[in-house]
Amino acid sequence: MTPALLPFIFLRATNAQSGLVTDQKHAFTLSIDWEDFGQLTGRDRFGVVTPPVGDAIERQTDIILQLLTDTRQKATFFILGMLAKFRADLVQRIAAAGHEIALHGSEHLDMRKLTRVRAAADLRDSQKLVTDITGQPVHGYRAPYFSVDTSNVYVLEILADLGLTYDSSIFPMKLPRYGIDNFNRDDALYLLPGGRQLVELPLTVVESSGRRMPVAGGGYVRLFPRIVLNRLFHRLHTSARNVMLYMHPYEFDSHPIDCRTNHPPDQHYPAAKAFLLNQKWNLFRGTIHGKMRALLERYEFITCLQKAEYVKAANSPRVLECPK
Ligand SMILES: [Zn+2]
Repeated sequence: MTPALLPFIFLRATNAQSGLVTDQKHAFTLSIDWEDFGQLTGRDRFGVVTPPVGDAIERQTDIILQLLTDTRQKATFFILGMLAKFRADLVQRIAAAGHEIALHGSEHLDMRKLTRVRAAADLRDSQKLVTDITGQPVHGYRAPYFSVDTSNVYVLEILADLGLTYDSSIFPMKLPRYGIDNFNRDDALYLLPGGRQLVELPLTVVESSGRRMPVAGGGYVRLFPRIVLNRLFHRLHTSARNVMLYMHPYEFDSHPIDCRTNHPPDQHYPAAKAFLLNQKWNLFRGTIHGKMRALLERYEFITCLQKAEYVKAANSPRVLECPK
């Protein structure tokens, strides 16, 4: 038996005792794109070069870690370099709790807008920063804005060159801002140019009457009523799909988020616009924690790396194809 199969055997073995819904053929994964709402808002909306990092990220990280401790689950945290620089202590806290540490790049840039050389530098820098903080190698990556598509699929080659095992950046349907239409929605091992290999763990979509629909992100968890969410995930489970949930720290916050975070004194939203934006962004936010707890209590979760190792051990590599 290969070590990579162990988590799945373990899942089956613990199933009867814990009452959790598990199956060795498929698994659920919770991934957290670990970034700071205020830091990114300050830079991307208001042009602040180095926005400060407030207390919120610590509160949010602790809420997630407590939830995972309470439900005895492990998650994968895709760490953003520009935040890790300020809060290396939190990255160490996440790693010490036994969760997987992976990469979300250095500067939270759209990888499609970078040259190949610049994209490689962003990734290399973030790998060095994060491995220096934890003292452990990293094995996976998620691009900001899911920004790996047909225009820059070479990002996968950069990841393989850096020694990574998997990527989880491809949205297997075309949405207005990202995605590859009809990309293989199963986890798979791909053969890249030059003989390198990489596992892709795409984001989860459900398929109905030949059409795909995204379901597994923080926005969907927030807006779908609990009964709909439970049905969708039950359906994914019974159809033996691998499920990749992707969330952000602010989605778990006990405080409302504010679109005016980190705005410079001379530049801010008009009061009415700020009010409406905040209403929109915080709508049903308070329901996320309970919905996530229910999923974490019902299903067994494994990390992205555990899933990727299983995929690698159980499958022959296939040629990467991006349907037009
Ligand atoms: Zn992000």
